[in-house]
Amino acid sequence: MPFQTFETLIGHREIVTGFRSALKEGKPGHSHLFHGPKGVGKATLATALVQILLCKNRREDPTVACGICTGCQKVTGGQHPDFVRVEMVEGKTRISVDQIRELSAFLSLTPLESDWKVALIDDASQMNEAAGNALLKTLEEPPDQSILIINTYRPGALLPTIRSRCNKSRFSGLEKGEIVQILQTVVDVSEQERQHAADLCGGNVGQAIRLCEAGILEERELFLREIEALNPGTLSMAVTMADYWSQKERFPTVCLLLKAWFQDQIYASVESLKEPESIRSWLSLSQWVEEIIERTSVVNLNRRLVLEALFIRLARLRGAAF
Ligand SMILES: [Zn+2]
Repeated sequence: MPFQTFETLIGHREIVTGFRSALKEGKPGHSHLFHGPKGVGKATLATALVQILLCKNRREDPTVACGICTGCQKVTGGQHPDFVRVEMVEGKTRISVDQIRELSAFLSLTPLESDWKVALIDDASQMNEAAGNALLKTLEEPPDQSILIINTYRPGALLPTIRSRCNKSRFSGLEKGEIVQILQTVVDVSEQERQHAADLCGGNVGQAIRLCEAGILEERELFLREIEALNPGTLSMAVTMADYWSQKERFPTVCLLLKAWFQDQIYASVESLKEPESIRSWLSLSQWVEEIIERTSVVNLNRRLVLEALFIRLARLRGAAF
């Protein structure tokens, strides 16, 4: 994983400040729960923390990782003997009880090359019930030199007893300026592209990076051109559009473009003092779209059919002097 330390992090200042004081006091805490939306930097902050905890030069300043010692290099190389990361194994649908038992055994051992044994579970809501119960045992009696970080965007899916035994850090979406700043360091695109991606991503930097890589400016232009041209005489175009945008790599982009487009329509209706009825129609259509998008990702609905139904509905509404 790439080198991270608190100095290189953008955003989440309060959480960082909390950890800095704890590290200075030499009491980093045994169990941490990082929760908040996807893609806002929970794993990045966890990585920075791991890096600092396992740096061999941290005795000079316990809140900084040097980046050059063997401890730091082993963390970035993914081979530090005192760190383990637990995630869902490819092809599986949950984190298993065996994975958690291994983690607990690992945490109970004496550190080999540092002061701590550190484990990260990402995303913890993927644990099955047995795994959750197994983790609870470790949380109840954390080994002396162990530090466990649990990441999740769905804290409600964890056992309440797991939540209550952890120090909780709540992550919020990043500000637009912070996202642009991060994009400047990770993707090589124009400033305009970065700004658009930051506007659309809803505080999720992972999404913003993906949007830049997908060429969001061009995609947005195409989307607007097409959606503005929809009318009852162009139903076949709705089908072509659905074909194009339902491709796996384009679907997340069109979902964000649709959300932003609906918001614009609602603002425009309000600004031009349209009849409440018209504003209500946009609102209900917009909610319907959000719901259907959500369901499509959860229950694996057919993306093409969902988009086709939506574009045809929009085309017909245009005809009805929407
Ligand atoms: Zn170091």
